[in-house]
Amino acid sequence: MGRKQEWIIFLLASGCASSPMAVDVERKASRGPWPEVPAVEMTDEETSVPIGLLRDVANALLKRAGATACDSMKRRPIEGLSMEYCSTIYVAGEGESLSWRVTEPIRGEFAVCRPSPQVEDADYPASNVWVVGYVHNHPCAAPPSSKDLANWPTDAFDPYVSMAEVRMVPGNPRPLTHRNNAIEMASALVAQRQDGTRFFLRYFTTGEVQQWSETRSRWILLDRCTPRGSNPFSAMPQCEKGPLRLLRE
Ligand SMILES: [Zn+2]
Repeated sequence: MGRKQEWIIFLLASGCASSPMAVDVERKASRGPWPEVPAVEMTDEETSVPIGLLRDVANALLKRAGATACDSMKRRPIEGLSMEYCSTIYVAGEGESLSWRVTEPIRGEFAVCRPSPQVEDADYPASNVWVVGYVHNHPCAAPPSSKDLANWPTDAFDPYVSMAEVRMVPGNPRPLTHRNNAIEMASALVAQRQDGTRFFLRYFTTGEVQQWSETRSRWILLDRCTPRGSNPFSAMPQCEKGPLRLLRE
C-alpha cells in the first residue's frame, strides 16, 4: 500500500464522531462467561459461532427491558424505551477442549450499542481467550447496519484490514484452530419480530451475511455486503443483490 493510500485510510478511520462509520467500542474489558448463557463445547462441525449458543443468547438478551420494544407504525426503535444490548463472543479453553462463550451484555442506547473488544474470562487467562466477534439485538428486527458490518474486535487504528483478509481472526499471531479447523471471526444479530418469531443472523469480515433457517436447519447465505460510509444518511450496507432480504419462513 502506497503512502497516499495509507493517508486516505487514516482520514477515513479518524473521521468525525458523528460519522456512521466511526467504530464505537467500549474500552473496558467485558466479563465472561455470562452465567445466563451456558458455554457450548466446540465440535468439528462448526467453525464459527454456533446456533445453539445464539439461541441461548437470544433467550437471555431479548427478555431484558426494551430489547424488543418497537414502534410498530413507524417500524423504528423508540427513544427512551427501546434498548440494544451487546455481548462479546469468544472461545476459551486449552488444547482441543475449547468452548464458545459470551460476556455479560453491555446496555447500549435505543439504537446503538458499544461492545468491548476485550474479555476477562473467569476460568482462563487472556492467553487462552480468543475474541471472535460481537452479538447484539435490534429492537425492530432490522437487518445489520453499515456500522454493524464495520465493527470488529481488531486494531482500532486500522479497522479496515480485516475486510480484505480471510475469515480468520485477523492479526492474531496465534490463529485459533480446533483439530486443524481454523475458527472464523463472525458477529451475530438476534431479534424478535412483531409476531413473536425470532431470527438469527451471523456475518463475517468478508461480508457474507447468513440467516439460520429453521425449516432447513442450517445457515443460508443471504448476500455479500459491504458497509457504505460515504453517505452519512445511508445506514444500509451495499449488498450484491440489492437491499438485504431476510428469509421469511
Ligand atoms: Zn446494529
